[in-house]
Amino acid sequence: MTSDLARSVLDACRRVLPAQRPLPLHEPMLGASERAYVDECLRSGWISTAGPFVERFEAALTTLTGARHVVATVNGTCALHAALLAIGVAPGDEVLVPSLTFVATANAIAYCGATPHFVDVSTRTLGVDPTALEAHLSAHAERDAAGARNRTTGRPLKALIVMHTFGHPADMAALRALTARWGLLLVEDAAESLGSSCLERHTGTLGDIGILSFNGNKIVTTGGGGAILTDDPRLARCARHLCTTARIAAGAGFVHDRVGYNYRMPSLNAALGLAQLERLPQLLTAKRLLAHRYTEAFADLAGATFFRPTAPEDSNHWLNALVLGPEHADSLSDVLATLDGDGIGARPVWTPMHQLTMYANAPRMALTNVESFARRIVNLPSSPALAGLTA
Ligand SMILES: *Cc1c(COP(=O)(O)O)cnc(C)c1O
Repeated sequence: MTSDLARSVLDACRRVLPAQRPLPLHEPMLGASERAYVDECLRSGWISTAGPFVERFEAALTTLTGARHVVATVNGTCALHAALLAIGVAPGDEVLVPSLTFVATANAIAYCGATPHFVDVSTRTLGVDPTALEAHLSAHAERDAAGARNRTTGRPLKALIVMHTFGHPADMAALRALTARWGLLLVEDAAESLGSSCLERHTGTLGDIGILSFNGNKIVTTGGGGAILTDDPRLARCARHLCTTARIAAGAGFVHDRVGYNYRMPSLNAALGLAQLERLPQLLTAKRLLAHRYTEAFADLAGATFFRPTAPEDSNHWLNALVLGPEHADSLSDVLATLDGDGIGARPVWTPMHQLTMYANAPRMALTNVESFARRIVNLPSSPALAGLTA
C-alpha cells in the first residue's frame, strides 16, 4: 500500500531527478581521460604494483589532502586493516567505533584480533557523538599512565575510529579533545569523504592516521582501491612495509621480517584514479548542486527531512539521505518500494554493526540514535550525472 508519505517522497524525487530509468544509487563518471591514462599504463607494460602510476597517484593525493604521507592500497578495507596494525592495535584491545557504518570499519578491528566497542552517533553530524561518548567513558572507563581501559571487560581501549558518514565531517574538534583527554589514538575512516574538510583540513588528516576508499560507488574510483594518510613518518613507513609483504631487500633478493600483506594498489588502478582526481572539482560542484536541489524539493515535505550537515560547504555530499520522521519509521519499506517501483534506486542505510551476528555480543554504549536512524534513513540516487555533469 502506498502511503501519502511515500507518494510525496516520490513526487519530490521526480522534481529533482531526470526522466531516465532505472536510476542506480551511484554511478561513476568515466570518460576520455580515464581511457587515455589507462591506455598509457597498458602501453608502459607496467600494470602491477611496480608501475609508474602508483607514485603519481600518491603524489596527487598528497597535494589534494595535505597529508605528509600517502600509501595507496588495494581497497579501503585493507587500508583500515594496515592502519590499525600500524598504530599497534593488537589482540585483546578494544577499539571504539560507530555502530552506524559500513561493515568494513568493524571488520578491520576484528582482523587485528581486537574487539569493536560500539558508540552512538550525533543527530547533527551522523558521526560519532562526542558528548554521549564522553558520558559513556566517564561511567565505564578509567585512564592511567598506560592509557584508557574498559572497567567492565578490563581490556585496553586503544583507539577511536571516526567515520564521516555520507561524506559529512564528524565533529573533529570535540573528538580530538576527547581522544587527547582519554589517551586514545584517533583513526579516521574517510572512505566516503574525499573532498570534505573540517577545521580547514582535509578529512582523514585530523587524527593519527586516516584512510580513503576508491571503490566503484565512491565519489572518485579506481575500480577498487584505497589509501592510508598520515603525517607521522614512522606510521607511514610501517604501513607501507605491511602493505608490501613486509619485504626488505637482501642481496639480489628479499627477506620478509614479519607477516605482511599484499595490499599495494596496482598501477592500472592508479592510472584510472589519476584521471578521476582531475575531475574532483567538477564532481564536488555537481554533488553540492544535487544536494541543494534535494534540499529544496524536500523543504515543504511533512513527515521527512532531507539531511543537511551543519556546514554544507565542508561536505562532499557523497550520498544523499532523507530521514523519515520518528512517527513514520513504519513507512520505510513502503517508501523504498514506491521509489523502487518507479526505477529510482533508493536504499536503506547499513544494518547497525551491533545487530550483526558476529558483533552481537561486542561491548557497546546505548545506541539510541543509531537504532533510530537505521529505521528511518532512505539513501537517494547521488550520481554526479544527476546534476547534469557529463564526462
Ligand atoms: C567504502 C567504505 C569502506 C571501504 O570499502 P572498500 O570497498 O574496501 O574500499 C570503509 N568504510 C566505509 C564507511 C565505507 O563506506
